[in-house]
Amino acid sequence: MRKKIVAGNWKMNLLLEEAKNLNSLVNNGIKANKYNCEVYHFVPSMYLLPLLSTDNKVRIGAQNGYPAKNGAFTGEISMYQLSKANVNAILIGHSERRQLFHETESFLKEKVNAAINEDLKVFFCCGETLEQRNSSNYTNIVISQLENSLFHLSAEDFKGVVIAYEPIWAIGTGKTATAEQANEMHIALRKAIANAYTPKIAEETTILYGGSCKPSNAKELLSQSDIDGGLIGGASLNAEDFLSIISNY
Ligand code: PEP
Repeated sequence: MRKKIVAGNWKMNLLLEEAKNLNSLVNNGIKANKYNCEVYHFVPSMYLLPLLSTDNKVRIGAQNGYPAKNGAFTGEISMYQLSKANVNAILIGHSERRQLFHETESFLKEKVNAAINEDLKVFFCCGETLEQRNSSNYTNIVISQLENSLFHLSAEDFKGVVIAYEPIWAIGTGKTATAEQANEMHIALRKAIANAYTPKIAEETTILYGGSCKPSNAKELLSQSDIDGGLIGGASLNAEDFLSIISNY
């Protein structure tokens, strides 16, 4: 059975008290119910330490990390520092980092290597633009994102990686991929993982869907054969909505 995961990507939102309150509402919701999935909050870096506590059932992840261990990189926080501060996981390859901060596939590869080296759980995001979706080879475009930044990992290292398929045209737009469109891509990605590694590893890899996933469409998306959870942006900023998505498990 593949591990199911629901992860919230808060992006650059919330003030400290709001962040603590949201995390605590979700934590209480998880404690009061027996959900069959792991739950993560990917939070702005200044909220990592206030939210990391042993009582927290929500795993706390960073939205960004720098590959070099330390040095003259003003404003950056390294994978090494995150790991030593007991951060659980890291988002790599989010389309906003690729597009707004010009993170290239080779830089993402460096980030992946550093994160794995520090035992951070990597959530690797991939997805196509609307223009690419309208071309005939959009599946290969997404697969190539894995090939160029992820598939160099050894089988042992790859085993800890979670993939998040996030069609860029569906992120924050209110436009969701249909459950069939999403599942079709997840099946193709799983096949690519089987080819790069083994069918067993592919079968065990958790692949999340992200892109305007909300309570009203989560049930259909999360019940697809190859969708193992969600990476949730906007709807993760509301405890009730996020818990409603989690309750599908
Ligand atoms: C995201 O940015 O990872 C995301 C899925 O955002 P949203 O749910 O708001 O589309």
